[in-house]
Amino acid sequence: MAMEDVFEKLRGLQNILSQKITLEQDIQEIPKLLTTQEEMLLRLKKTFIEKNQEYERVRLVEGEYRGLLLEAETAREQAEMKMDAITTQREYEALDKEIRDAAEKEQQYRKELQKEERLLADIDEQMKQQASLIERQEQELAERRTGIEAEAAEKAERIRMLEEQERKLNEDMDPEVLFKFERIIRNKMGKGIVTIRGGVCTGCHMILPAQFANEVRLGEEIVFCPYCSRILFYEEATQGEEDFFAHDDSGSLSDLDDLEDDEYDDEEEEEEKVAIDYDE
Ligand SMILES: [Zn+2]
Repeated sequence: MAMEDVFEKLRGLQNILSQKITLEQDIQEIPKLLTTQEEMLLRLKKTFIEKNQEYERVRLVEGEYRGLLLEAETAREQAEMKMDAITTQREYEALDKEIRDAAEKEQQYRKELQKEERLLADIDEQMKQQASLIERQEQELAERRTGIEAEAAEKAERIRMLEEQERKLNEDMDPEVLFKFERIIRNKMGKGIVTIRGGVCTGCHMILPAQFANEVRLGEEIVFCPYCSRILFYEEATQGEEDFFAHDDSGSLSDLDDLEDDEYDDEEEEEEKVAIDYDE
């Protein structure tokens, strides 16, 4: 296979692998999207349980007042019944006091009881609101989970399709090169194959040893950058870049042979320059 074809395949693979890696990361991130909602739901449930405990406590107090009220009522009623049987003023006064005391207690306990009953009704109302909020949140979470699962499945399907393309491109390629290439792409965030420009790796911007730059330009085999491990390839500079580097390359497109010769000469000069830079 011609090196240009190999590089072309590697660039294609780079594209596929970056997409695949992004999708894989997305799939890993997906469960985190639910965390906030799940935590909120847990807090709501905890509050609901606490409210329920409060309700039980208030209900006990309410029960106590209900008992006390009954006792006071009974005491008053019994005292009132005894009223018919009294004979002396002293007895009357004692009984009258008993009745008034019991009635006073009765009134006090009734007030307390009403207070507790109102409190219970309030708590009950709050619990109802919380319960419906919990129900809504659970429903929302379930819907969101379904949506997210569909999204994950869709991403997994896209990965599967990319892997199919990847397999096609991988045919006839050196497995060792492919292994290194994928590892570089995973480590270097998407770039596994880069051009050299002016003897510099455009991946890590290091000046390459002259013999490396040479090998890359010859394009006879796959060369890995000694600094960042990316695969290097040589690309003839575009017009803009030539302007930038102020190359005097006025070769005419109408005569490609001449142009190639000119470029070849330029390259030779550039190599010498880089070699000198490097030696320094
Ligand atoms: Zn490099």
